[in-house]
Amino acid sequence: MKIFQFASQLNDELNRNKIQGKKIGFVPTMGALHKGHLSLIQKSQTENDLTVCSIFVNPTQFNNQEDLINYPSSNIEDTRLLQEINCDYLYLPDPKDVYPNGLEARSFHFGGLENEMEGAKRPGHFDGVATVVKRLLEITIPDRAYFGEKDFQQLQIVKKLVVLEQIPCEIIPCAIFREKNGLAMSSRNRRLNPAQLEVASEIYQSLLQAKSNFQSKTITELQEAISSQYKNMSELDLEYFEIADVDTLKPAKQKEKNKKYRAFIAVFAGSIRLIDNIDLN
Ligand code: AMP
Repeated sequence: MKIFQFASQLNDELNRNKIQGKKIGFVPTMGALHKGHLSLIQKSQTENDLTVCSIFVNPTQFNNQEDLINYPSSNIEDTRLLQEINCDYLYLPDPKDVYPNGLEARSFHFGGLENEMEGAKRPGHFDGVATVVKRLLEITIPDRAYFGEKDFQQLQIVKKLVVLEQIPCEIIPCAIFREKNGLAMSSRNRRLNPAQLEVASEIYQSLLQAKSNFQSKTITELQEAISSQYKNMSELDLEYFEIADVDTLKPAKQKEKNKKYRAFIAVFAGSIRLIDNIDLN
């Protein structure tokens, strides 16, 4: 695996390959890699000639400085994991290389997608995400880029970003990878203590419960059931539980025929914020 610290050098290398007709797959990450990340890389490897992974903890997408400071980092172990699965390229830059003109996010509009759920709870988050994803796609010039459904709102926003900014890259959604107890894999899980890890499996259980009752109950009933369940749990604090239209991500009040819905949840385990979602149709 070739490791690049500088965008210009990586871009030169990838351009040379692209001219020769090689298809490039790209998987952006913030490191502290787990099997969920590796599944994206493996999917890219099956669909492209070359796979690039980036590890960059993007400061502009953190609205909470404490979350940024505490974000787990394990570059040596990550590099080993990527080598083990034969990833072709790793881009491991300093912030200056990604943001040569200073650490600032551009302001984007995604037709309202950016204002729901994570956008409402984390002001500026999606401007930071879109700014870094656009820059990374310009550097890595991929034919396909892989994003996890774990961050479903981010996935929808990135799909819109490539259309609005006319970036010639196909965005490929990838299924959520889970721990044995159902907890969605996340770099932040490393910060959970054993008791929190165990109780955090309830997050997926709530989603499964919403899915199995989706046809028989109203949206209000589903929401009330989930909220009362969390009121009785001292270790987990429910931030939101929403059932939203998958296209607009607007919270649904009533189910409509021919529309597709997903349930979205954000929960605090102590100071650690966890998100998850599930398809309801
Ligand atoms: P992150 O490093 O958290 O920014 O994630 C990098 C990419 O991996 C994003 O596209 C995430 O949606 C995806 N990802 C993170 N966790 C999972 C998971 N458990 N299953 C599938 N994809 C994931």
